[in-house]
Amino acid sequence: MTLKVLVCGGGISGLSLACALTQKGFEVTVLERALKYYSTAGAGIQLGINGQAVLREWGVLSTFQEVIAPVNKLTFMRSDGRPLGTTQWDDYFREKTGLVPGGVLRADLLARLEALVPPECIRRGVTVEKVESTKPTPSVQIVDENGDTCVESADLIIGADGIRSRVRDAVVRDEKPPTFSEMEYWCGVCPEPELNDHPTFEQDELMELVGSKKWFLCHPAGAEGARMRVWTLIQSGRERPEDWTDDKPAVEAFKENVDKEWPEFISALVSRSIRHYHLGIYHREPVPTWFRDRVVLTGDAVHAMPPTAGQGCNMALESSYVLANVLAEAMQQPATASDRSDSSDAGARIERALKKFERLRHTRTNNLYALSKINAAWMVAGGRFLTPLKLWWIGTWHRGKENFATRLYEREFVNECPALRPDGSPKTQQPPR
Ligand SMILES: Cc1cc2nc3c(=O)[nH]c(=O)nc-3n(C[C@H](O)[C@H](O)[C@H](O)COP(=O)(O)OP(=O)(O)OC[C@H]3O[C@@H](n4cnc5c(N)ncnc54)[C@H](O)[C@@H]3O)c2cc1C
Repeated sequence: MTLKVLVCGGGISGLSLACALTQKGFEVTVLERALKYYSTAGAGIQLGINGQAVLREWGVLSTFQEVIAPVNKLTFMRSDGRPLGTTQWDDYFREKTGLVPGGVLRADLLARLEALVPPECIRRGVTVEKVESTKPTPSVQIVDENGDTCVESADLIIGADGIRSRVRDAVVRDEKPPTFSEMEYWCGVCPEPELNDHPTFEQDELMELVGSKKWFLCHPAGAEGARMRVWTLIQSGRERPEDWTDDKPAVEAFKENVDKEWPEFISALVSRSIRHYHLGIYHREPVPTWFRDRVVLTGDAVHAMPPTAGQGCNMALESSYVLANVLAEAMQQPATASDRSDSSDAGARIERALKKFERLRHTRTNNLYALSKINAAWMVAGGRFLTPLKLWWIGTWHRGKENFATRLYEREFVNECPALRPDGSPKTQQPPR
């Protein structure tokens, strides 16, 4: 049975889902408002073992490995550059999972995902205006680049249209806008050769500098030969847009302040960067319902979390993996009595699959949401008592071989990853509703 699926949004969720669903024989169309991706758009992403495991399960990881810079170790420092501890985690995780965490440029990730989807399955320059969850065929109203409006219907509509999702309106009642996470981010991208005179930056290292009320981190990303160092400064801040445009005067003032606040090697990194961004950070409070009839949400459209655990994109990949699997499984199983009593056999199967998707993903994404919020509070905490406590506590993380830093990463990101579990489902599941 072939299902017609409309995926609204062609970001990480939409493209990864389209890749998985077309592999499984679904008829997929991605509706994306952007006309093209810009190779300079966005900064970098920490692609965890869990996100990479999904790509490996789909048999496409080798395509991505060319643009993923391995992160073999994690180093913490005080804000003046004095070391707090280092954890080498490459051997440990490679032995257990065959993978190590890595850094990828957002544009590389999107371009490689797009290349895996048949070109005729992606429609660009179309904006989703409204979705109706009517049975048996939900529909979507779209506006193309010429301003012409039309309505399209499908067996299933998937909202992968990010944190400000339009599809959500058809699923979530009493909708609230995204919540400002009380943080602003400064981010940038610096070509590695610019840092050749700075041996402090090791090619395969995620470096975190712990300040009072501030946190700075940087990691490698991108293909060998074109490698970049992606950095982020996290601090409490006033509400501002989350867009990725350069605000030049603010950036210049920021660079001056960096000289005063951070060690010389961080000033070098910031001032030699080729792109700088300044954005507000937002999240969505978790909601109990992820689907209505034959319209379902995934990725940031339903589980947008602050990026303070580096897991939004990894969760999007995991959700794509689970959603594609439950849909394929439901289509393959013999029809049940309730399927036959439904006016559309496919519709009943879809709803069963969506219920399972929601159940399998709720706990996992809610836990990561909570962790991101805890990390956010911790990263911007400071003052006379909290700063020394923070430094002492982080110093203890790195003691011993299988230390706290390793166990924490493993517990939070690796153990519950569906693509690393033999049956493809998380260990902790909520009871069926
Ligand atoms: C500063 C920052 C750093 C981050 N770092 C990390 C990290 O290190 N690791 C990690 O795992 N995650 C990270 N994240 C989170 C990650 O970026 C998101 O979780 C991820 O992009 C979600 O993917 P998505 O496809 O669900 O949504 P999006 O990436 O937002 O994609 C949505 C797509 O839908 C399209 N769209 C939107 N509305 C419409 C419409 N009405 N019609 C048609 N198309 C539409 C958009 O153009 C876009 O292409 C970070 C986020 C930020 C802000």
